[in-house]
Amino acid sequence: MSDIFSALRDAVGEQAIRTGAAINPKHFTDWTRHAPAQPLAVVFARSTEQVAAVLRLCNAHGQPVVPQGGMTGLAGGAIPGTADIVVSLEQMAGIEEIDPAAATMTVLAGTPLQVIQEAAREAGFEFGLDLGARGSCQIGGNIATNAGGTRVIQSGMTRDLVLGLEVVLADGTVLSSLNKMIKNNTGYDLKQLFIGSEGTLGVITRAVLRLQPQRTSCQTALCALPDYDTAVRFLHQLRRHLGGDVSAFELMWPSFFELGVSLTRDRKSPFAERHPLYALVEQRGFAEQADAERFGAALSEALEAGWLSDAVLAQSGSEANALWAIRECTAEFPQRLAPINFDISLPIGKIGAFADECQRLFDAQWGPHLSLFFGHIGDSNLHVTVDGNTVPGVTHEAVDQLVYSLLRRYGGSVSAEHGIGLLKREFLPYSRTAEELACMRRIKQALDPNGILNPGKLFE
Ligand SMILES: Cc1cc2nc3c(=O)[nH]c(=O)nc-3n(C[C@H](O)[C@H](O)[C@H](O)COP(=O)(O)OP(=O)(O)OC[C@H]3O[C@@H](n4cnc5c(N)ncnc54)[C@H](O)[C@@H]3O)c2cc1C
Repeated sequence: MSDIFSALRDAVGEQAIRTGAAINPKHFTDWTRHAPAQPLAVVFARSTEQVAAVLRLCNAHGQPVVPQGGMTGLAGGAIPGTADIVVSLEQMAGIEEIDPAAATMTVLAGTPLQVIQEAAREAGFEFGLDLGARGSCQIGGNIATNAGGTRVIQSGMTRDLVLGLEVVLADGTVLSSLNKMIKNNTGYDLKQLFIGSEGTLGVITRAVLRLQPQRTSCQTALCALPDYDTAVRFLHQLRRHLGGDVSAFELMWPSFFELGVSLTRDRKSPFAERHPLYALVEQRGFAEQADAERFGAALSEALEAGWLSDAVLAQSGSEANALWAIRECTAEFPQRLAPINFDISLPIGKIGAFADECQRLFDAQWGPHLSLFFGHIGDSNLHVTVDGNTVPGVTHEAVDQLVYSLLRRYGGSVSAEHGIGLLKREFLPYSRTAEELACMRRIKQALDPNGILNPGKLFE
């Protein structure tokens, strides 16, 4: 062990390595707060060459390595074991280039998402990824988890926003594929292998991101709906009217909506009556007045068709923020509840039936309790939260079994956007065939034959 430490010191310098009590506990676990563990060491790499040197050494010694970004992950993917060395990317941050002609931004992997968003805005562009952890998460972590967020319906997943990558393989090989072109059919698209690989195939060190023109208008409305099928019809009608300008379609079931309202400042629902479903819809485009007219016309048509029972149209940015505050009550869950969270996806036509059956299953199992359902349904993504405080003695494992067994029957996926990490690996076979899993293992074996990269994540 002393061999590898002295070689690491030579490679990155004494000051870039922390061991023992000098390790900040933020490296022990991610946002899940699951199984905190003090790793053997944390290495703060400052260049691709340093990452390559560290991996070359660790590979030669069979030393497990855990890549860490901002530690905001929700699947336990960045949690180290006590025998692991962490490679932290936090000191590899910065924007290297904005190419206005190609509409791309080249960044180092440790750059926080919010820094990227702000730099894009300053240059007259926008970066299509947005999520609640924007201030702390890093683009390398976003890419490694193929993060989704609130704009997927308009901009796609992280996978759709990356044109090129630089990655260091387990043996220290630097794979530089910093492509800026939209069309590039020259064999396998290797970058896609690393996007969503959760640190198990390589350490991402640089990325070329795809930018979009900055949108200048935004319309927001909260709509009350009679049932799930009508919500889907309404979503498609909005898309017919507004095309790619639909930027959010957040569906909330009543218990979620009521909790959200109770946590807002004035605690008052915008509607006089209770409704079976609520959709927060948003349009982002380029022409304020014309966009407002198209949005208003789409809502009027839906009201006249009887698809909407009621609707509130935000008249200002602060009214829009007040409507979003109901949906963003999720940020309060860790303080207010003992949340057991699920991030699942299903074909959009099945989400309503799944949510109903899941609720019936919970009611039959536990009687009165609090469970919450909301979804980015345009992205086929449903989030389910059970408040463990309202089900005495319930374990995460027991709720996992209930939800994932039902999900398997519906042909859904156990992770829509947070990844598998440590927490869902047992359930990966619920969503992937034996042949798919065998193929994944062959890829892992080919790229990391000694199994040093993030062992125990994704697979047992
Ligand atoms: C308040 C909040 C809201 C969130 N909202 C969303 C949301 O709407 N949508 C969504 O998809 N996610 C959401 N997340 C979770 C999301 O996955 C993370 O925020 C983010 O994508 C992870 O980035 P990170 O830098 O924190 O990565 P970490 O947590 O540090 O790591 C995550 C995984 O990536 C790997 N990794 C990190 N950096 C690298 C690298 N450079 N190379 C290779 N592997 C690496 C790690 O090993 C680990 O497996 C949210 C989290 C929070 C706390």
